[in-house]
Amino acid sequence: HAKDQGRCCFKFYSDSLNCRARERLELEQELRKAIENNEFALHYQPQIDVSADKIVSVEALIRWHNPKHGFVSPAEFIPIAEETGLIIEIGEWVLKKACQQAKFWLDEYGSEYRVSVNLSSVQFKRGSLVGYIQKVLKETGLPANLLELELTESAIMTDVEENIIRLQQIKELGVGIAIDDFGTGYSSLSYLKKFPINTLKIDRSFITDIATSADDAAIVKAIIALAETLNLAVIAEGVETTGQLQILRGFNCSLIQGYLFSKPLNANDLEALLINESHLVTY
Ligand code: C2E
Ligand code: MG
Ligand code: MG
Ligand code: MG
Repeated sequence: HAKDQGRCCFKFYSDSLNCRARERLELEQELRKAIENNEFALHYQPQIDVSADKIVSVEALIRWHNPKHGFVSPAEFIPIAEETGLIIEIGEWVLKKACQQAKFWLDEYGSEYRVSVNLSSVQFKRGSLVGYIQKVLKETGLPANLLELELTESAIMTDVEENIIRLQQIKELGVGIAIDDFGTGYSSLSYLKKFPINTLKIDRSFITDIATSADDAAIVKAIIALAETLNLAVIAEGVETTGQLQILRGFNCSLIQGYLFSKPLNANDLEALLINESHLVTY
């Protein structure tokens, strides 16, 4: 039955390709209206300093609730937003919202939590990016050192010479740069040394089996050693178990992020965690 193949499949759309194309088109149309209809929100996931058992920063992660489609995962709609160019407007909204929120926490609690914002390669390639970041920092009043931008390896490993200049300009603003999902792309180690970056985020896929796979453990250990050599901070993503944490501690991994400590939370729930850090379970 065509109907079994997906929620938009009626008998008119008998083949699944047609159905997927239609669903995609529908999502795109809804996405166009999502900002003005206030359908986006940011959730924040703590990044924890393992030795101090303290939250040092939070990653802003976009959430989309559409009345018709319900919750749509960023993994599903960000690629559509990138292909259609809508990511520019969405990305600007995210950056502004995240900076406003971090500034609010700073003013309200004197809490110097850095906020990490994911940046699409489409945003990164735009000549106007640096000016926009500067404008947002000025408008929100957030100190530049409390903002970090997350870029994937593939975003910065193409057009390397241009990217080094752009990264340098961002660095000069005082904003940090993290390489997200590190280990899954094609980082050239010689370039890594030249990039003015601050942080490597080890991809969750290496953390998942770290307790059972000697290969994954060896890779994680090597990335941590690499980060240390290059004087970079390192974050393990997707830490879910105490077993994984134990191994990461043994490797001297300084920062971790994952469900073990906290899922991404809405601003209010995160605030409760920030106010009373004793809510943080110590392992
Ligand atoms: P990412 O930047 O690598 O974010 C980490 C993803 O892992 C998030 O998924 C987070 O909820 C999830 N995660 C964190 N800890 C754990 C864990 O312990 N276990 C598991 N299974 N998952 C964990 P999310 O929020 O669905 O975001 C998926 C991706 O969508 C992000 O990957 C990022 O690439 C993209 N994304 C999210 N928000 C934005 C945004 O505002 N702008 C852009 N350009 N991309 C975004
Ligand atoms: Mg990220
Ligand atoms: Mg990641
Ligand atoms: Mg990812």
